[in-house]
Amino acid sequence: MQINEKQIALVNDRLQAILKSGNYFGKMYEEMGITEVRSAEDFKRLPFVDKAELRNAYPLGIQAVPDEEVVRIHSSSGTTGKPVIIPYTAKDVDDWATMFARCYEVAGITRNDRIQITPGYGLWTAGIGFQAGCEKLGAMAVPMGPGNTEKQLQMMQDLKSTVICATSSYALLLAEEINKRGLKDKICLKKGVIGSERWSDKKREYISNELGIELYDIYGLTEIYGPGIGINCADQTGMHYWDDYIYIEIIDPETGENVPDGVEGEIVITTLVKQGAPLLRFRTHDLSRIIPGECSCGSRYPRLDVIKGRSDDMFKVHGVNMFPSQYEELLGTIDGVSSEYKIDIAHDDEKNRDIILLTVEAEGRVSFDKTAVTIRNAVKSKMSVTPKVVVVSVGTLPRSEKKTKRVFDHREE
Ligand code: ZN
Repeated sequence: MQINEKQIALVNDRLQAILKSGNYFGKMYEEMGITEVRSAEDFKRLPFVDKAELRNAYPLGIQAVPDEEVVRIHSSSGTTGKPVIIPYTAKDVDDWATMFARCYEVAGITRNDRIQITPGYGLWTAGIGFQAGCEKLGAMAVPMGPGNTEKQLQMMQDLKSTVICATSSYALLLAEEINKRGLKDKICLKKGVIGSERWSDKKREYISNELGIELYDIYGLTEIYGPGIGINCADQTGMHYWDDYIYIEIIDPETGENVPDGVEGEIVITTLVKQGAPLLRFRTHDLSRIIPGECSCGSRYPRLDVIKGRSDDMFKVHGVNMFPSQYEELLGTIDGVSSEYKIDIAHDDEKNRDIILLTVEAEGRVSFDKTAVTIRNAVKSKMSVTPKVVVVSVGTLPRSEKKTKRVFDHREE
């Protein structure tokens, strides 16, 4: 999506603020001789910004306003090394709440709703974002925070919560508990707002059916406000995002070149009005595409497709780029297979070719050998590579509370 005149003016305004502040990026732009952005060409000359640089600026090196204007910080946890600290001004906090309230509205949520919020509060941007948006909208927040399923279910019944906000894993757990305890008739939930991550259609269907609710994916990341910068509408044709607050471009993660609308690539976000920590051309490593054309719902806001995965997770075999999510989707269609799997890639020196070993868990209703053949043929027809498939019993592969590592590449060893 081409950057428009109005957005260019806003980018230039942010660039001037960054330069004036002399923060980490202000110094970087000065050294590079970047003084203004007046055209789409100028914009494309801006370097990309990556999370590693935000870490280098720890703790407050990316702050672009005087201390007295900062009202809050949030932090994104890194899997390794230092966390990233993002300072917010009062306007940033308010803008974020406005965007979040807009998300709720797109999901058809109103002042009459009661929103049970289960994501965590604290340094993380989740819980507080859901809450601020709810209050901005004028709905009733039930600020539960994570865990304590017993109490969650009690409050859900007593307060007649109509909306549940959760990660997909916690929504699944709640759905399973409600099913197990036969509480379906006692709850009033109508909608679920789920933090956007890659999750299978199988899981989505189960949650939606068990709870009898409509599900909405909300998008966002701590570096760019937090959740609430986009959400899918009732027409379920991708997530609308707020192009008056952020500019989104999609790039080829390898070359850094912009790809045309409709083509998949990495999401790069520029904040247009952020004060505390403005970011220009921030690489999210999330993979998606801009959906061309207008949505049938009539909204003028552009759309992103569901997040397909992370560019960091991409792997290449026989010159073909692949993502764990493609395997996940495919396994979701095969009977009796669990959601757990593992991909090992190695190089066969004798035959000089790469080998993919796919380990999959199955219940055993269908014989493991038969399941392996079904999976191998499915991968072959969908992805034009033929993996070796090993089927093991459910519970064999390790479980992780955090993000599970799926791909093990042994080729560079
Ligand atoms: Zn729409």
